[in-house]
Amino acid sequence: MKRLFDMNEWKIIEQGFHPEDNRLAESMTSIGNGHMGMRGNFEEDYSGDTHQGMYVAGVYYPDKTRVGWWKNGYPEYFAKVLNAVNIMGIRVSINGKNVDLNEWEVVDFKRELDMQHGVLTRTMLLKNGVEETKIESTRFFSIVTKEIAALRYTVTPINFEAEIIIESYLDADVENEDSNYDEKFWLPVEHGTEERFGYVTSKTKKLDWHVTAAMITDVEGAFCEVVEGTSQYVANRFTKQVEPGEAATVEKVVALVTNRDYEVEHLLEQAMKRVNEVFELGFDTVLAQHEAAWLKHWEEADVKIEGDVEAQQGIRFNIFHMFQTYTGEDSRLNIGPKGFTGEKYGGATYWDTEAYCLNFYLATSKPDVAWNLLKYRHNQLPQAKENADKNVGMKGALYPMVTMNGEECHNEWEITHEEIHRNGAIAHAIYNYTNYTGDTSYLGQYGFEVLVEIARYWASRVNYVPQKDVYMILGVTGPNEYENNVNNNWYTNLMAAWCLEYAQTVHRHLADNEPDRLAELMHQLTLTDEELAQWADIDQKMYYPKDETEPAVFMQQDGFMDKEQIMVADLDPKHLPLNQNWSWDRVLRSVFIKQADVLQGLYFLTDRFSIEQKKANFDFYEPRTVHESSLSPCIYSIIAAEVGYEEKAVELYQRSARLDLDNYNNDTEDGLHITSMVGSWMSIVHGFAGLRVQEGVLSFNPMLPQGWTSYSFRMQWRGHHIHIHVKQNEISIEQSVGEAFSLKLHNQVVDVPAEGSVTVPSSMTV
Ligand code: BGC
Repeated sequence: MKRLFDMNEWKIIEQGFHPEDNRLAESMTSIGNGHMGMRGNFEEDYSGDTHQGMYVAGVYYPDKTRVGWWKNGYPEYFAKVLNAVNIMGIRVSINGKNVDLNEWEVVDFKRELDMQHGVLTRTMLLKNGVEETKIESTRFFSIVTKEIAALRYTVTPINFEAEIIIESYLDADVENEDSNYDEKFWLPVEHGTEERFGYVTSKTKKLDWHVTAAMITDVEGAFCEVVEGTSQYVANRFTKQVEPGEAATVEKVVALVTNRDYEVEHLLEQAMKRVNEVFELGFDTVLAQHEAAWLKHWEEADVKIEGDVEAQQGIRFNIFHMFQTYTGEDSRLNIGPKGFTGEKYGGATYWDTEAYCLNFYLATSKPDVAWNLLKYRHNQLPQAKENADKNVGMKGALYPMVTMNGEECHNEWEITHEEIHRNGAIAHAIYNYTNYTGDTSYLGQYGFEVLVEIARYWASRVNYVPQKDVYMILGVTGPNEYENNVNNNWYTNLMAAWCLEYAQTVHRHLADNEPDRLAELMHQLTLTDEELAQWADIDQKMYYPKDETEPAVFMQQDGFMDKEQIMVADLDPKHLPLNQNWSWDRVLRSVFIKQADVLQGLYFLTDRFSIEQKKANFDFYEPRTVHESSLSPCIYSIIAAEVGYEEKAVELYQRSARLDLDNYNNDTEDGLHITSMVGSWMSIVHGFAGLRVQEGVLSFNPMLPQGWTSYSFRMQWRGHHIHIHVKQNEISIEQSVGEAFSLKLHNQVVDVPAEGSVTVPSSMTV
């Protein structure tokens, strides 16, 4: 754990320069807008340790697979999130000396991310001999015009006259740190420079992704010249003489467009149009619009915690990044585990989206955002079918573990071929959307097709054991990746059976409500009653591992109790994290659990399990869990809250919310854990507040963590915009949009008026 940043409700502040932790600070101060994003790199040259990173949504590179021992069925490539043109760069020289924090004396330094307004600023006082210079920078990636990023950068020599030369550039000659063969992925296409203007277009060596960046830069009162660049580097140079205390201020606006949105031949025209429009409006106006849009996001989705600044900062940091990473208007995009903050985990889409992220967007955004996340998987159904057929010889569809375009690009056999539970999360997301929104239209339009192909996969993957009259699923990896090739992972079997059952439920729903559409689908999918009957049989006869020594526990897999039953608390802390200290075979042999596995099932299918069952399984599994996946603590926190383990719930919430802020897993310098950020929101809303939607009824079961004075959150549900405030003595629910409706608080019906509020004493609800 490392705490580099000040405690602040709305800000991430790095006080003082920490060159040794620069990568960590760069990850933490990343900004983006769903279309593109950048690490908190300095704009000016820096010769110290840095990871220059700029990423564009949906633009990736199929980097040829590199493995020690090739196994049949491995994908040919791993899709890399692509480091793209550096759009924020400027080079600053003061009286002939290039500004570089690695070489200048840094007297004062503050890097600050304002999450409320979506703005990254830096202020510095630098010294060169006796000469002191103040530098201030402000940058943002507009959430109003998604292709736009802007920078204001001011250089003020305090106690000397200076000639300041500023070179504003676009540099497309960039590379990925995680390139498999140390290759560069970009080729030059076109470039050009005029006074105060420059553009560069490059394309990827494979797949022909084209990216055009165009910039307009101005430095008031400065002489501007065009720099002779290269085919991947364009620049304008500004020279200004300043008196002591006088500033040279750069304003730079950049538009970045790709052939994901426009035809290649229109890219330059589009980039120029946007950059000109925005430059005309002026930096301050564009910034004000951007800030207002952020305030609106917070109005709709803030979670406020009173009495605990650490917890408050954590949740806002997470919400901020969810909105920065995914905006939901494009069903070709998804949410990568590192978003726009780093390269590791190359491929963009994991089961994380359906199992975790969807919950947040369902409750904080208009329904089409969640719809688009579901549609993304429907778009990729053909590739998922191919994946089942070609790669693993099964029927139906197996969605990939990691993907950019629907093709599997993960290449560890125990995950690619065995971590098949991901299909369950994708089906569950369809249920989650329908259950939460009450909108069943997705089922007939797209959902049933996906559910049928997923059910077919499971039906072909199970094996029937005649002597026991059960179906088993052998050779899998459950969510707990610290076990491979196990037989009958309880969670996988549970979700497989549930998928088969849910496909039948949706079939019945369509038969009752959309018979014509169902007939069309049955024909299109060549689905028969016999196949449906086979699914019912598998569902009913699914095998679940048990052990008589622990009758109340759902056994994670066959043979789990044969392992040496030691607890995490028994380990010398120097062994942790296990994945950095133990050999892999030792990890696999041990009892230790990476992340929620059985508990993931208890969370997903919460209605099917009693509090006693949840308690027994929490008691058994939590002491054996090392939470070495960032996805883990939140699920345990939610179950802990539900069974009344308040202290544990808060401890696990904190771990989830401040995972990156406190660098718990010692890897935040590689980028932030974006997909698991939803976990802290889930811990509060699903955990502490106990949000559930059962049979069309919204219900809460709130508790107030000790040490918190109160907490409140805003959410949307079926057209109702509500604000829930949980205080020591009362709970209030305020509705700003929507008709009067009823919900349940601690199992009692409460009427919520239209545009009004209702307050219930906590004592009455317990
Ligand atoms: C977890 C997976 C997850 C992936 C990406 C891994 O460490 O075990 O469940 O999908 O990270 O977040």
